[in-house]
Amino acid sequence: MSELPSWEDMVSGANCPMCTELPDVNQFNYKVADLSVSRLLLEREQTYPGYCVLMFKERHVTGLEQLTDEEYTAFMSDLRQAAKAITAAVNPDHMNYATLGNIIPHLHYHIIPRTENDPRWRGPVWTTTPKEMVRMELEDDEYRALVERIKREL
Ligand SMILES: [Zn+2]
Repeated sequence: MSELPSWEDMVSGANCPMCTELPDVNQFNYKVADLSVSRLLLEREQTYPGYCVLMFKERHVTGLEQLTDEEYTAFMSDLRQAAKAITAAVNPDHMNYATLGNIIPHLHYHIIPRTENDPRWRGPVWTTTPKEMVRMELEDDEYRALVERIKREL
């Protein structure tokens, strides 16, 4: 991750990649939809089918503690809406929610559908360094089909 700006810069929002308007399809993800205060993104990494990130989009904040009451309520509502849509689209056995921000300190939630036959069932998905993670990528048409399935359920 040496290509990232310094931690101090990223916390302050300078050069924050999540504050930069990226194309709807880019090297990291596919845009699913804009919700009330957030953007739902389907990650290219699909070891866990339906894996999405919900990014707070109103301004640069690093954590929940920086949100106003109204923003928090709206963000949590978006999170539930997204999780329900993903559940309807991919029918997982369980759902994991994680907000860490250790690599990009801009408030976002990982929404990770889990299944009984996934490689880390009954454990957390992150047990190794990012470089050592199993990575599963799909074809472009498969990403687009998955985006449409999730979008229909929103
Ligand atoms: Zn940001």
